[in-house]
Amino acid sequence: MTKITLSQLANHPSCMDDYDPNAMSVTQARTFIQQFLTPVAQTERSPIRESLHRILAENIVSPQHVPNHNNSAMDGYAFKYNEGIKMIKIIGTAFAGRPFDGEVKPSECVKIMTGAVIPKGADTVIMQEKTVNKGDYINVLEDAPTKGSNVRLAGEDLKRGETVLCKGHQIQAADLGLLASLGIADVMVNRQLKVAFFSTGDELVSLGKSLEEGQIYDSNRYTIYGMLSELKVLITDLGVVPDQPALLEATLLKAAGAHDVVLTSGGVSVGEADYMKSLLRKHGEVLFWKINMKPGRPLAYGKVRNAHYFGLPGNPVSTMVTFYQFVRQALLTLMGNNVLPSPVFQVECTESIKKAKGRTEFQRGTLFEENGVWKVKPLANQGSGILSSMSQANCFIVLDEDTGHCNPGAIVKVQIYK
Ligand code: AMP
Ligand code: MG
Repeated sequence: MTKITLSQLANHPSCMDDYDPNAMSVTQARTFIQQFLTPVAQTERSPIRESLHRILAENIVSPQHVPNHNNSAMDGYAFKYNEGIKMIKIIGTAFAGRPFDGEVKPSECVKIMTGAVIPKGADTVIMQEKTVNKGDYINVLEDAPTKGSNVRLAGEDLKRGETVLCKGHQIQAADLGLLASLGIADVMVNRQLKVAFFSTGDELVSLGKSLEEGQIYDSNRYTIYGMLSELKVLITDLGVVPDQPALLEATLLKAAGAHDVVLTSGGVSVGEADYMKSLLRKHGEVLFWKINMKPGRPLAYGKVRNAHYFGLPGNPVSTMVTFYQFVRQALLTLMGNNVLPSPVFQVECTESIKKAKGRTEFQRGTLFEENGVWKVKPLANQGSGILSSMSQANCFIVLDEDTGHCNPGAIVKVQIYK
């Protein structure tokens, strides 16, 4: 795909041969969005606990070996290996954190606890259970260990000077422990992304108010809040904005002025009250796509002032699906993460699926285990307004453009979103 500017595309959609805003594939749309994303440049120092799920702004190089001394993997006796040895004299004890000071000579041993430093002269540990303690010596039972047994070597986890975590990595729970094991208390991370969102629609009511006829509670702001929270971005909820051009304009400009990303739901299709489109044409360079996908056909992406803008369809399932399929990865890229696409697995589908070729479908399914084999069952109601299907399901069944009807037992792709 040729690199092209947003305004070229927004103003002259026909300027590119392979660009048709009325028939975009999921992959094309992702590729388009990706080329306009530049990761945040500012960084800050953060204590490691607070850095969880944030993006590393530096490579982490191990300042020491981990473990930093040879130590015992077992409770037992440390001795100098000697084939066929049967009786060994005990000359002391080594505890974790309290090493044995002396040196172990041939035919001598030190009682040793898991994690204790291997004393000078010793190279092997025999498990306590493989010995008989006779007071000041031990008898070695059958199965004496081979040389070096039960010894954890210095540097066997990490070596001094080794790069252990790379810039762009999203910090996970294990990494907090890894950093702590290196004695590192804080790290440089990219600054947090500022993301604002609001819902559009005259029919929407916020929680705490009662519903009049024709009104519904705004649920998208809650699912969007939940999905954003998993990314550790700074969130601003700008509420529900009715389909009134002046209010929509004021809210959009306020959001774009103070945030890296603005998300809206509703108002990007061709309904009569869809004012967002003309507003976005006025204030931004925004692309409106009809994506060959179900659910979530209309999607808008572009820039309003300096903010990236995503206009998600209003149907609650479509909002979530477009967020997971486009917005999540874009946000991670803007955060500076070296994102890998979400893993996709192949499993057997237990039911038939009706599907037309020519579009990608993200059906909601339940992965379950049957006789040790994982299978997927699509939910019965796949409507784009059936938000309960997103709660009941645990995965998307991803059906590519060239997939048609599937019979029970067909192998399908699944993507876990929980
Ligand atoms: P729209 O994209 O604005 O045409 O909305 C499509 C459908 O989604 C309509 O049935 C709306 O009532 C519904 N909808 C839009 N926004 C929300 C929201 N924030 N929460 C729940 N449903 C919504
Ligand atoms: Mg609407």
